[in-house]
Amino acid sequence: GSEMCIRDRTTDVRYVKGIGEARAKSLEKLGIRTLGDLIAYYPMRWEDRTRTVPVRELIPGEYACVRATVAQDPRGGRIPGGRTLVQVRAVDEGGVLDISFFNQEYRKTSLHKGETYIFYGKADGQRQRRTMVNPLVEREGQQLLTGRIMPIYHLTAGLNQSTVARAVRQGLDECGDLPEDVLPDEVRRAHQLCYIGFAYENVHFPASPEALALARRRLVFEELFLLSCGLSLLRARRETAAGPVCRAVDMAAFYDALPFALTGAQRRAIEQSVADMTSGRPMNRLCQGDVGSGKTMVAAGCAWFAAQNGWQTALMAPTEILARQHYETLSPLLARLGMTCALLTGSTRARERRETLAALAEGRIDLCIGTHALLTEDVQYHRLGLVITDEQHRFGVAQRSVLAHKGVSPHTLVLSATPIPRTLALIIYGDLEVSVIDELPPGRQRVDTVAVGEKYRQRLNGFIHKQVAEGHQVFIVCPLVEENGETQDERKAVTAYAQHLQQQVFPDLRVSVLHGRMKPREKEKVMAAFAAGESDILVSTTVVEVGVDVPNATLMVVENAERFGLSQLHQLRGRVGRGKAKSWCVLLSDSQNEETRRRLKVMTDTNDGFKISEEDLKLRGPGDFFGSRQHGLPELKAADLSCDMRTLDEARQAAEALLAADPSLTAPEHGPLRRRVAALLEMKDGTLN
Ligand code: ADP
Ligand code: MG
Repeated sequence: GSEMCIRDRTTDVRYVKGIGEARAKSLEKLGIRTLGDLIAYYPMRWEDRTRTVPVRELIPGEYACVRATVAQDPRGGRIPGGRTLVQVRAVDEGGVLDISFFNQEYRKTSLHKGETYIFYGKADGQRQRRTMVNPLVEREGQQLLTGRIMPIYHLTAGLNQSTVARAVRQGLDECGDLPEDVLPDEVRRAHQLCYIGFAYENVHFPASPEALALARRRLVFEELFLLSCGLSLLRARRETAAGPVCRAVDMAAFYDALPFALTGAQRRAIEQSVADMTSGRPMNRLCQGDVGSGKTMVAAGCAWFAAQNGWQTALMAPTEILARQHYETLSPLLARLGMTCALLTGSTRARERRETLAALAEGRIDLCIGTHALLTEDVQYHRLGLVITDEQHRFGVAQRSVLAHKGVSPHTLVLSATPIPRTLALIIYGDLEVSVIDELPPGRQRVDTVAVGEKYRQRLNGFIHKQVAEGHQVFIVCPLVEENGETQDERKAVTAYAQHLQQQVFPDLRVSVLHGRMKPREKEKVMAAFAAGESDILVSTTVVEVGVDVPNATLMVVENAERFGLSQLHQLRGRVGRGKAKSWCVLLSDSQNEETRRRLKVMTDTNDGFKISEEDLKLRGPGDFFGSRQHGLPELKAADLSCDMRTLDEARQAAEALLAADPSLTAPEHGPLRRRVAALLEMKDGTLN
């Protein structure tokens, strides 16, 4: 019989009652394959359904539980449109509730006159006669989805809350082996954390608000503790590895060859990197600087320094457009210093690619610039000593390590324009040293920013005409709009909007279009044409967000600005104000939402990327950084860093204390912890150094 089956955390979810092939597929989309995955699938929020309210006290528009008795036999059947409708009247002392069930014909026989049920749903109707549509129905005493604090899960097509809740309930009941506790006992006790079994039970089905708080604290702590351990171990490992050997070189020759004097912050970043590279250990440095702060020159300085020491440099950009732009900037500059550069991207032609590969392998190229194509197996370096990644947050740790394997732990430098609040940088880049470029090149002007509504449209169009008449260019960015839960087709939406602008609004101007669905080569052509002044207005999605330089563009217009995150808006704004002419950013939004107004005000008040990201963190939470997984770190499932910062500090300290006592986690009682940290860092062998 089935009760003889041994079920554990590795059991496939298909063994759960109610989970067939189709639902298993849906669960898989959420990353759930086994019972273990199921119980580690934490709710995104909780809803208190402990209390039932009298029907009379239901508030229209709000969800609530009522306990009511079915007063008449359910009636109904087919209705026009091929649907079915079953209607039931239920009453409690002093209240009447009329319930409609659409496409749930079985309610006709499953609900019985004279019996009492718990109904949970959104109330509507008048005081004398309240209504509910498709409420949850449970019998008293057999409640799973009502009468308690309910978990609310993030769902995907083909699943509903009760399917997932029931599956999780079974997972918890049937997992014979409780998950092993990765927290060492002494840590658990010192920080007053509950047992793991209690935590799993109560994070899904809290016995009380207090139990939920305890469970969450435990899981959040554990998650941040694991991450802290992992990052400390990465750092420790790097500190014992040997890096490509470099001796100090006078940087004056490099500085003197530049067309401008570097800012103090640029020189500091270069000198910090050079110090790392001469330390004997592999450099692992993040260079953070606002858009336009001149990070490319830091990359150039480091590549020049590596070349002086006989090492090759690989510079990776997230897009082909950017790679090409770097190549065009750096190649002539470094040629004057006797260095050879090459460009290698996905669209490099076969013959050229072969030649570049051969030259790289023979060491005839000092700096190779490209996209992820630099990572493919057939790219061999003669002496790869330095790897620079631009806009690192778009590359994952995994990609970083692929490259790392191509050389003998090469020096790595990461350039990022995403100003990350210090608190977050501590975790995201916990294994990196950080240089901050907090100074803009001289003569750079502030981009004046205004937030306006549709009323301003006419004047804006006039302003666009004026900019173009003065010989300047304009970016117009529009967001992808969701309609009926589906994201618009990017190509269609942007193309249609550009067509509208060209035909109805700016018939006398040249409008071009750029969107993410284009082939890299197409994108590049459009971007190059715009940079060369062949069009006046570039209509695009956020694909222009990343680093392309068009100094002649003086106006950035963002449509439906409320749909973008602050950091993203700041990034977009950074596309203008790169030349000598005065530049503007116009944020269009008709949203009256108070938070939106506040966010847009942050944009009009400051140009400081760090301030903006701090505000973004306060207003939106770290979803932007963690949700999108752009940083390449493991996803945080329990922790929410907008409110769990205290726990983070605590967990970090606990991790450091533990590692000070047992640096490689070799003590037997740390076995579970060691295995989990290794898995987290995707070190297949389970060893940590
Ligand atoms: P980002 O940090 O956004 O990558 P870039 O490296 O693209 O910035 O630099 C932005 C612009 O500023 C480029 O046109 C570059 O030539 C110029 N620039 C960089 N450093 C200086 C400097 N010290 N003085 C003047 N212009 C500079
Ligand atoms: Mg850049």
